[in-house]
Amino acid sequence: MNAQLKPGQIGEFKLLIGGKLVPGAAGTVDVINPATEKVVAACPRADVAQANQAVAAAKAAFPAWAAKPIAERRALLMKLADAIDARVQELAPLLTQEQGKPLGGAFFELMVASANIRGIAAHDLPPVVLKDDAQSKVVRVRSPLGVVAAITPWNFPVIMMVTKLAPALLAGNTIVVKPAPTTPLTSLRVGELCAEIFPAGVVNVIADANDLGGVLTSHPDVAKIAFTGSTATGRKVMASAAPTLKRLTLELGGNDAAIVLDDVNPQEIAPKLFFAAMVNSGQVCLAAKRIFVPEKIYDAVCAELAKIASAAKVGNGLEEGVEFGPLQNRMQYEKVKAIIDDARAQGKVIAGGEPHAGPGYFIKPTIVSGLPDGARLVCEEQFGPVMPVLKYKTLDEAIARANASEYGLGATVWSASNERAMDVAMKLETGTVWINKHLDLPPDVPYGGTKQSGYGVELGQQGVEEFTQVKIINQAKG
Ligand code: ADP
Repeated sequence: MNAQLKPGQIGEFKLLIGGKLVPGAAGTVDVINPATEKVVAACPRADVAQANQAVAAAKAAFPAWAAKPIAERRALLMKLADAIDARVQELAPLLTQEQGKPLGGAFFELMVASANIRGIAAHDLPPVVLKDDAQSKVVRVRSPLGVVAAITPWNFPVIMMVTKLAPALLAGNTIVVKPAPTTPLTSLRVGELCAEIFPAGVVNVIADANDLGGVLTSHPDVAKIAFTGSTATGRKVMASAAPTLKRLTLELGGNDAAIVLDDVNPQEIAPKLFFAAMVNSGQVCLAAKRIFVPEKIYDAVCAELAKIASAAKVGNGLEEGVEFGPLQNRMQYEKVKAIIDDARAQGKVIAGGEPHAGPGYFIKPTIVSGLPDGARLVCEEQFGPVMPVLKYKTLDEAIARANASEYGLGATVWSASNERAMDVAMKLETGTVWINKHLDLPPDVPYGGTKQSGYGVELGQQGVEEFTQVKIINQAKG
């Protein structure tokens, strides 16, 4: 890795292929700071041959890595967690500059990343005796799959990277990581840390111009794809994995409902709902994206939310006191602006929503009331700081409207009664339901989506097992 950089210094970036830090054979891609629209750094861009080399290096490293005892692999993952912690002062401002999130959010992301590595690495994959009788002994073991391709998005680049890397490596696989082209820099730095810790080829990190994902997902030597991104791209990943029947974990889009019951206090609930929708400027697959509020407290909840939104401090994430950074990239910025325009035509914008003069992809937290369910903000995944507050008459109606979505990632229920909240939670068609809290994702609890929100789970024992093949050893006795 670069020698420790001084504050404000950006340094150089290299790909990690076969244990070597190398320049990109396809030149560079400028990474843009979404707060200033200035170039943060020129990121090396891999070509197809380098993507193939990365897969070949991972394939060559696989047998020796898989043969190591799990305790040795775990120990090296723990070293990676320590190395991230040791470089956090340098990595956090870099993450803010490429991703846009406030510095506090960048530190938080890195803290969660190292905690996730440790929490995931604490899992074990012991053999299980399924049967042991006079005729036979049957043992189930879990063997690694081979080369994993990890393809990550731009909202939480480091968490998403290590949440795939840690279980893949713990289980004995090797990996090629490809971050999103707008946020590759911190991932390449983590790659440099990996170069110092893992044997050559066990971890490879390449960066692209949005053109190498397909090379990895169709590569015959890739056994498994761990992907986080949009549902549209997830469908393409699944299709390109079909000819070689690759294993898949897909963590895709969501349009999560927050269902507020009529027994809550509007003043107490509003800040929690606001956080659930606006954290990371709404660029969270599990953000609350449709807020269902009963008639009785609708106006009061809307008024509280508008108050909080109007007071929010938006700006360059490197500045003190900023709570919300810009949207991560121009494409997403334009998309969210168009969704706000549509919402303005069909409902009432009660906070935010004003155009920003630039530079930077800033959108102030925006609250919209009175929208019909057919408005874009309600039926599409906005993935931005814009919150539709929807009025409902009966709880059954709210549950039916919440479930009327092709997505089914997460949901939240807010109530003074555990029993009532539990009843609603059981009826929601999602992979996770939080009651009176949001975004609690500890590394020992799996999460994943139903319907078109995903395939498989990340985190938890199951999340590790998804990087393995069940293998039965059935031995005759006597
Ligand atoms: P967005 O959230 O901007 O729509 P995507 O879901 O398209 O992003 O991107 C998530 C990740 O998937 C990125 O790393 C991107 O480069 C990658 N990707 C894009 N297209 C493909 C593809 N056809 N196959 C595999 N990966 C892809």
